[in-house]
Amino acid sequence: MILEHRAEAPFFKNGFVVGCEETREAIVVDPGDEVDRLLEVVERHGLTITMILLTHAHLDHITGVGRAKQVLGVPVWLHADDNFLYEQVVQQGLMFGLRVEPQPPVDHFYDGEGPLRFGRYTVRVRHTPGHCPGGVCLAVSREGEEKATLIVGDTLFAGSIGRTDLPGGDLPTLLRSIRDVLFSYPDDTVVWSGHGEQTTIGRERRSNPFLI
Ligand SMILES: [Zn+2]
Ligand SMILES: [Zn+2]
Repeated sequence: MILEHRAEAPFFKNGFVVGCEETREAIVVDPGDEVDRLLEVVERHGLTITMILLTHAHLDHITGVGRAKQVLGVPVWLHADDNFLYEQVVQQGLMFGLRVEPQPPVDHFYDGEGPLRFGRYTVRVRHTPGHCPGGVCLAVSREGEEKATLIVGDTLFAGSIGRTDLPGGDLPTLLRSIRDVLFSYPDDTVVWSGHGEQTTIGRERRSNPFLI
């Protein structure tokens, strides 16, 4: 599996390119202000992007959707419960004193867990509300294999958890999503969060101060 992440000021939010090393099919996840860096990754690996997948619709995770869609010409996927946030991207920007362009409409809402596919990989979409109503974890696996790599958005971070003070956030719901969904994966499962470095389910289960 090809997996690269990029982050840029002011939010240092991770955007991802995840690709199949055999077929060169790939996905872009959460394109934000670093979208041009992600497009360079796509170019460098000679990848064909088939979908833009969003973990949730907070400002920092969606400001590059329009640019990505313009260049790549592929559909955008989001959980329906976050569409109200997606449609308010301009107002979200104003809350941070930023001028943000409206983004093109979402093409598809996730229909259950999927799975969606690119090349020899599947993406299972696990609903993990709490940080926001339509937050999801994207569990990427090689076809026929159990082992998954998790792209969890802002639900769980290395040593921390997502904030729940934004519209639609709820702490008990967030903790339930982490315990019931994310912690159902084995300890050696690699976790990529929306901000910061990668971690594993085992490390967070053992040492995350919000969860022990
Ligand atoms: Zn967020
Ligand atoms: Zn974020």
